[in-house]
Amino acid sequence: MPVKHPKRIVLAECPTPLVRLERLERELGGAEIWLKRDDLTGLEVSGNKVRKLEYVAADALATGCDTLVTEGTPQSNHCRAAAAVCAKVGLRCHLLLRPEPPDGLPRGNHLLDVLFGAEVSAYSREQYDAERDRIVADVLVRLEAAGHKPRFTPAGASEPLGCWGYIRAAAELADQLHQADVGECDIILPISSGGTYAGMLLGQWIHQLEHWNLWAVPVSDDVVHHTHVIEKLARGAITEFELPTEFDEAGLQFIDGYIGDGYAIPYQAAIDVIRLLARTEAILLDPVYTGKAFCALLDGVREGWLGTRRPAVFIHTGGIFSNFAWPELLVKGIEA
Ligand SMILES: *Cc1c(COP(=O)(O)O)cnc(C)c1O
Repeated sequence: MPVKHPKRIVLAECPTPLVRLERLERELGGAEIWLKRDDLTGLEVSGNKVRKLEYVAADALATGCDTLVTEGTPQSNHCRAAAAVCAKVGLRCHLLLRPEPPDGLPRGNHLLDVLFGAEVSAYSREQYDAERDRIVADVLVRLEAAGHKPRFTPAGASEPLGCWGYIRAAAELADQLHQADVGECDIILPISSGGTYAGMLLGQWIHQLEHWNLWAVPVSDDVVHHTHVIEKLARGAITEFELPTEFDEAGLQFIDGYIGDGYAIPYQAAIDVIRLLARTEAILLDPVYTGKAFCALLDGVREGWLGTRRPAVFIHTGGIFSNFAWPELLVKGIEA
């Protein structure tokens, strides 16, 4: 059965490079480690979110919407990418941020939200968590009353349509790994709102990439939560787009234990990993997602179950701008 591809606007620079981290491998004393550079999907739209937003923005335009509404933290890569995409395609962007940005000048991703001309409503974390659905509904009503046609996409653009970003990316990566002669392998990526992992799993199932072992490293929530979200997203996409596959919970694999004290609360090992990759490869990870998830990869290499028996492939989902929100951390570390 042919797969029905939804409409997409081309915004990301694809295919993103697949590179081998030879200097890091030498530093670690032997392992085969590849990096899929989805941090290079673009400058303003860098990271994984633009792949999902290509579909969401296309849908907004096709349905006559003029405003994209979405949600996240002040350092959200998704909100920044959404603001950039909106500027690029001529949509208004309204961001619901929580918690309220810190006093003073905006930094990192939030600085870019402002530059790209996004409108921002900010809430305390307690208020947003308690009243999220009402807040979203109110903003949509207010925009409609002002004569706009808004479309909402949830945190991370993780809705069934957004999963297409990584259904496509899975096929792209499969081609590149094939060219590079990489067969059976472990593929590791950070997970938060779930659309990236759900898309990769769907891509794996649709394209029958049985030689892939896909691992998600939680950086925000527990495995029970992620399993539930992935199941909902994947089943939603399978139904909505009549995908020729079935949901298989056995395909979900997590490497747990890398959240630390909570989402977006950095820890020293993640800072050390950011420095290690910067010094050995001139590649920038981030303190919220990829720094933590790469810790899981390095521990796996040291414990001898990743990168040694078969190649390990890390998906660099982006996030570089949040480094510029925490300069003291990167220079001095956590304990200082
Ligand atoms: C959003 C994000 C993730 C997580 O992707 P989800 O699809 O939300 O699970 C990982 N890395 C970076 C840099 C991100 O911005």
